[in-house]
Amino acid sequence: MSNTDYKKMYDKIFKAMGELTPLSADCGKLCGHACCKGDGNTGMRLFPYEETNLSVKELDSGVRLAVCSGECNRAERPLACRIFPFFPTIDDRGRIFVEADTRAQRLCPLITHSDEIIFDKRFFKAVKRVGKILAKDKECREFLIASTEEIDTYADFLGEAK
Ligand code: SF4
Ligand code: SF4
Repeated sequence: MSNTDYKKMYDKIFKAMGELTPLSADCGKLCGHACCKGDGNTGMRLFPYEETNLSVKELDSGVRLAVCSGECNRAERPLACRIFPFFPTIDDRGRIFVEADTRAQRLCPLITHSDEIIFDKRFFKAVKRVGKILAKDKECREFLIASTEEIDTYADFLGEAK
């Protein structure tokens, strides 16, 4: 796909997410906005060809991070922030699921206290739709596959560390 096609794809994705968040209330009150404590050096991983107005740090591994200092224009936040702490995982048949992103487990009470929380189902529907849109593109599909493997590895690690 061309950069213009990717831009259109992310516009569609952001539209699908809209203003939906995991809860209908502000979950930041549960944790003091633990996921928005950027130090101007670390950041959220960008999806393939995702553009951002935040500054971008490219790691040796090729991973691109949108760097923030704990504040941003909410309407322009990266996709990873919009779907946090969940992720559209993919199986070997290409089916999309929405799972807790275990990479965030030590940070986010929505994962550790999921049994006690009433989530907004519309959010999960939207994340699944996002996964389906991403899976249509080869590079994004590969990103989903690699991320799913990472999430599974973290899940195993956390299970063993219990
Ligand atoms: S860490 Fe989890 S509970 Fe806290 S603001 Fe982020 S998503 Fe919400
Ligand atoms: S980009 Fe915005 S939403 Fe994402 S972690 Fe930084 S301050 Fe939070």
